[in-house]
Amino acid sequence: MIYQDTLEFAKELDAQDELRSFRNEFLIPQHNGKDAIYLCGNSLGLQPKLAEKYLKAQLNSWKDLAVEGWFQGDDPWLQFHHQLKQPLANLVGAKTEEITVMNSLTVNLHLLLVSFYQPNTKRYKILMEGGAFPSDQYAVESQVVYHGFKPEDAIIELFPREGEFTLRTEDVLSAIEKNANELALVLFGGINYYTGQLFDMAAITASAHKAGAYVGFDLAHATGNVPLSLHDWDADFACWCSYKYMNSGPGGISGIFVHEKHFNNPQLKRFAGWWGYRPDKRFLMTPGFDPAKGAEGWQVSTSPILLMAVHKAALDVFEKAGGLEKLRQKSILLTGYLEYLLNEINRKHGEALFQIITPKNPDERGCQLSIICKRDGKKIFNYLSENGVIGDWREPDVIRLSPVPLYNSFKDVYEAIMHLDRYLVISE
Ligand SMILES: *Cc1c(COP(=O)(O)O)cnc(C)c1O
Repeated sequence: MIYQDTLEFAKELDAQDELRSFRNEFLIPQHNGKDAIYLCGNSLGLQPKLAEKYLKAQLNSWKDLAVEGWFQGDDPWLQFHHQLKQPLANLVGAKTEEITVMNSLTVNLHLLLVSFYQPNTKRYKILMEGGAFPSDQYAVESQVVYHGFKPEDAIIELFPREGEFTLRTEDVLSAIEKNANELALVLFGGINYYTGQLFDMAAITASAHKAGAYVGFDLAHATGNVPLSLHDWDADFACWCSYKYMNSGPGGISGIFVHEKHFNNPQLKRFAGWWGYRPDKRFLMTPGFDPAKGAEGWQVSTSPILLMAVHKAALDVFEKAGGLEKLRQKSILLTGYLEYLLNEINRKHGEALFQIITPKNPDERGCQLSIICKRDGKKIFNYLSENGVIGDWREPDVIRLSPVPLYNSFKDVYEAIMHLDRYLVISE
């Protein structure tokens, strides 16, 4: 695509966009009586209009049916989570039974590590991306300590080469090979939260398995953003949150994937609870844990129906959009436009003020661009915020902007960058 830096061009792309009507499915925050330019779906996705309706329906079931709501009504709560599994399976490339929804992300990461990180004196190391999201670092550290190992010995953090911002796949694979005899687990993000780099999960999985290690992915920034094929890649497990690109509300319910090959593996330990017990016998409350088939066997606690109702609303929008295929095509164009306009600003002002550290190759990124501001970073960020452009700021000098194909337009992207331009003109 040959882009142009004019409002007419941005509007023309919007007019050609088959998915443009999906913006109307969302509530856009307001700034001075106009739609804000919301480029922060990497942190909290916008509210689907359906959310209130679905939430109300469950509040009404609670009001009208009270405890009978578990068994009666249009959507009995006991089975409510089943309808979330297929749409999620579509988004992450899994079989329905490989998916369930439960808890929140870090909790699920811990529960999955209980099963998939079972170190012994020979194999006890975990290889992960350097500078992973802090919660993942704390989770892994505490698991390592829990098993009696030392984090500085057991955790291998992989950092980019000197002078580079993102990891080369070849370096990830060679690190796996180098540590093959000691690796218990390879744990990676699907997309790094800071740089926006999309990792080659298929290659990482194959290499980890060759080394004799389990492999799992934290897909917080990948699910609902890029197409995934967890089952075919043969990943052992994955987890994600639903409040970023899945638009399911602050602290929304998380989901997990466990590959079907592990369903009947008695070696996998679990921290169990009654909601993971086989449903036909759950209420007999007999001693001894007999897990439900599939990922549901990892469930612990009663379904949080109100969170699930909101999640359902958000997933319905993805289904209506036909899944991720077309969304991804638009996303590549939209983020490409953001990249083009940033480069134009640098050119126009004769200064490489904005350095994009996210990979240039669309196959190695999702919708987010991470931008280092060579000067005035915080001031620029604040100027954008004051003018209704919502992105986010990561210390020490990075602005993350994420145009989301479900609700952002090319005009949003154009106008966001025009605000940057105006800042530079004013500050000169
Ligand atoms: C957003 C995010 C989290 C947040 O975890 P919660 O348990 O939902 O607070 C964890 N890990 C990664 C990689 C994230 O991007």
